[in-house]
Amino acid sequence: MPFLTSPSGCIALFSMLLATGVSAQCGTVSNAAPYVFDAPEGIVERGGGPVIIPTLVHVHYNPTLFPITPDRIADAIDRCNTYMRAQNEDIGEVHPDFQGLIGDLGVELRLATIDANGQCTSGIVYHWHADPYEQYDVWSYGQNTASYLNIHVSPGINSWTIVPSPGFPVSGDPGDGIFYTTYDAQFRPELLAHEVGHWLGLYHTFGQTNTSAVECGDDWIADTPITKGSAVGSCDQSLSECTPGVIENVDNHMDYSLCGKMFTQGQAAHVGSIAMNPETARYPLHQPANLDATGVLLTPTCAMEHWAWHRSFPGCDSTRVEYYALASGRVPDSVRWVFPGGSPMSTTETLAQIHYTSSGLYTAQLTSCIDGSCTTIDYPVQVDVNQAGANGLPLITALPFREDFEDGFTLPQPHMHVLDDGTPTWQPYGQNGFASGNSLYVPAEALTENDTCDLVIGNFDFSQLTLPTFSVKVAATQYNMGSWHTLELRFRELCSTTFSTGAWAIWQLNEMNVPNSGSGFAPTADDQWVTLSAEFPVWTQSTRAELVLRLRRPSMPASFTPEGFWIDDVRLGDPEIATSVSAMESNGFSIAPNPADNMVIVRGTAGGTATLHAYDATGRSMLQMRITDTTEHLDVSTWPSGIYLLRITSAIGEQCVRLVVE
Ligand SMILES: [Zn+2]
Repeated sequence: MPFLTSPSGCIALFSMLLATGVSAQCGTVSNAAPYVFDAPEGIVERGGGPVIIPTLVHVHYNPTLFPITPDRIADAIDRCNTYMRAQNEDIGEVHPDFQGLIGDLGVELRLATIDANGQCTSGIVYHWHADPYEQYDVWSYGQNTASYLNIHVSPGINSWTIVPSPGFPVSGDPGDGIFYTTYDAQFRPELLAHEVGHWLGLYHTFGQTNTSAVECGDDWIADTPITKGSAVGSCDQSLSECTPGVIENVDNHMDYSLCGKMFTQGQAAHVGSIAMNPETARYPLHQPANLDATGVLLTPTCAMEHWAWHRSFPGCDSTRVEYYALASGRVPDSVRWVFPGGSPMSTTETLAQIHYTSSGLYTAQLTSCIDGSCTTIDYPVQVDVNQAGANGLPLITALPFREDFEDGFTLPQPHMHVLDDGTPTWQPYGQNGFASGNSLYVPAEALTENDTCDLVIGNFDFSQLTLPTFSVKVAATQYNMGSWHTLELRFRELCSTTFSTGAWAIWQLNEMNVPNSGSGFAPTADDQWVTLSAEFPVWTQSTRAELVLRLRRPSMPASFTPEGFWIDDVRLGDPEIATSVSAMESNGFSIAPNPADNMVIVRGTAGGTATLHAYDATGRSMLQMRITDTTEHLDVSTWPSGIYLLRITSAIGEQCVRLVVE
């Protein structure tokens, strides 16, 4: 399977963080004492050209973690450079109080054209990890950190780097570099500028902590006001909380705001003091001999090699395949895909979303061009499409769905039938029901072997429900444990192979709270009926779902009295009583706010560590992250509105939480 939702990806990803012993939101690592530099001059005042940092970007990907295409990386580096040089288009939108303080760091990243082995490179190196269970240390893939800024890229949420000072880290420390994570296919230049800011010696504007909006803090830069920092993902340019009358610098890249667009002159001076100090690990990188050795001053001439990668998302009537155009050696000037049998049939995007409506082997063609020279490769992909309505039942879109078995109800119905196994099974019961005279039942039968009675209900379009909830009234007796009845609610996704066909709810007779009404029971009064209900995990929000209500009756001793089992008032829809979805507690972890529109705070109280895996309603993995007993932030600002499933796995167990993103 090209797309796995196994949590193993978590292990691989977070072992990278564990390997370094550090994980922090947008994190930084520093020596204990901040390095406070008091020099009035930065690189800008030096009057020379920019300090050039030879850069290698390492993209790690595996069957569960997607790669970022080379054009997006090259573009993000260019845009990051405009941020560092104060040449970004939105620089004019900086708050008036800070317009006069805008600083030019005088630093630019430049993709290397010669790697540490002397080989030609585009500066973007792809590392394929075929085994999603492989635990690898990203830093072991880095190259000579005395010569290159190594940026490691992998889907996730905790980006971090080391804030340097003289003597720390030592030049060439293999753990030096930037770990950049993203949960989407973008490579965000704002986040890159933030991390490069750290890498060049800057702390958060709110101080040495990684948690904003809590305590007023100082970054030891004179022209950035004391601040608590912005709540993650917010943008309030009028923020003024720490010093009366002083507007705080939420436009600063080193805040957690969404509106980072500037560095200050004080920050530029500090970066200059770090970069130009021979005692720091940053100094050797921009020395002329290293610029020559890494080829950053040369016009790239390497041969371009390209290849394709994909992952599939089975839908209801079609399967979406995401194609990635990847390359090494050079970043292609342009690409063109042709997708025979797909829709659309062609595109010039490096990340293509193509739909197929029937199964088959499809061969895409990828053409990548550099300097007017193009090469084309074939890329065959086996696409599996699950046809809708595979059970032949019509689609029920009117929800909530109710069936009370009244008005001459018979089986089969278009939306309800039994799987006949030759023994007594579900059938109408005309002598009693809940608040009515009719219900459905499986008559008493002597059981010499296990019996299974299936009532098939469907198809349903769950996609219009917020929290698909099934309920049914039951009546039975616990006499002789009612032949040890078990009622199961099973679910089948008809449009996808992603989901399980297992039972979603299992009720043992002794858990149903039905009374022991003695032998030979048959319901005669409303108080003999109890309600069973089950909520479906959000990712069962398929547009074609089939339900099966299964009564299981194991074989029983001949001395036991056979008993019947009754159901009535089947209902499927959103819960009848609106439930408040504020903070939801699970496994000692809380998630709030919920619903959320830009930031979710995950707080762990159980101690130890856990992994959090988020899926969208189609089952697509949105991110995975390690959570500890500290506060973690989940940026959902770019997630489409909808419902997501958060799965938290810890030593205590696994818990699923529904998150609504507005
Ligand atoms: Zn940071």
